[in-house]
Amino acid sequence: MLRIAIQKSGRLQEGSLELLKESGLSFSNGKDQLKTQARNFPVEILFLRDDDIPQYVEDRVADVGIVGENIYVEKQKNNEIVKRLDFAKCRLSIAIPRAETYGGIKSLDGKNIATTYPNIVKGFLKRHGISAGIHEISGSVEIAPGIGLADAICDIVSTGSTLLSNGLKEVEVVMQSEAVIIATPGLDGEKADILDKLLFRIEAVKKAKNNKYILMNCPNDSIKLITDVIPGMKSPTIIPLARQGWSSLHSVVDENDFWEKIDLLRSFGAEGILVIPIEKMIV
Ligand code: ATP
Ligand code: MG
Repeated sequence: MLRIAIQKSGRLQEGSLELLKESGLSFSNGKDQLKTQARNFPVEILFLRDDDIPQYVEDRVADVGIVGENIYVEKQKNNEIVKRLDFAKCRLSIAIPRAETYGGIKSLDGKNIATTYPNIVKGFLKRHGISAGIHEISGSVEIAPGIGLADAICDIVSTGSTLLSNGLKEVEVVMQSEAVIIATPGLDGEKADILDKLLFRIEAVKKAKNNKYILMNCPNDSIKLITDVIPGMKSPTIIPLARQGWSSLHSVVDENDFWEKIDLLRSFGAEGILVIPIEKMIV
């Protein structure tokens, strides 16, 4: 049995549950439930506060956990990242009152910075040879400058709208973060096997999300050109059309450079292009 800790409620919860469900785990998650067991996979899920997860993983109360990378770095527990998950992307930044002019990183010298991430800020200041005071608070960091508690803050930013509405501006990015799976180093054989199986499934789900199945009609003369643009997993499938000189070509295309490729394919004479989501992808 592998015990997985995920956030009980908050910004990581939905993505974590979705990931486990898309990986084929079937389980109930009632509102006030603290733990649950998957019906079809040897996994138990614990619902915890995200800040506590690294410690639980270190203590082996949970074997693995899903947390923001920011929490993993901040807590400095005996954890290792075993998978990056591509969701809950955000950054940790330093912000100062909008009315102030920013004179570069050196201007933070001697200032007071309010944050819920003292270790990350300490590390950042040390790397840049800055000595500033760190005021650790547990929430509502963005109001600290407004009430005279600090000169600057270091907090999570995704769109910047919270900063804006509190009269602040972002001046330094301290780190980028996304959801990650952390684990205790040295899991025993059985747990390591279950984790491997789960990571394999997660990879298939992740790949599928980043790729689309694409089919189109193309003149036979263009098959070579098109195959060079979208080689697919091994090579495209080519099926002759009833109409002379034409084929139907099926392949897989990466979501990231999708539109660029579509333009190229059209310039090669491809028509009737269909793009279909992929549920799982195993290479
Ligand atoms: P808990 O009650 O479990 O301690 P919390 O209030 O500390 O929750 P949340 O605000 O739910 O935490 O954020 C959890 C994690 O989600 C953060 O540590 C960060 O990695 C990520 N995150 C936070 N804000 C954003 C955002 N605006 N966009 C994307 N990801 C975010
Ligand atoms: Mg928290």
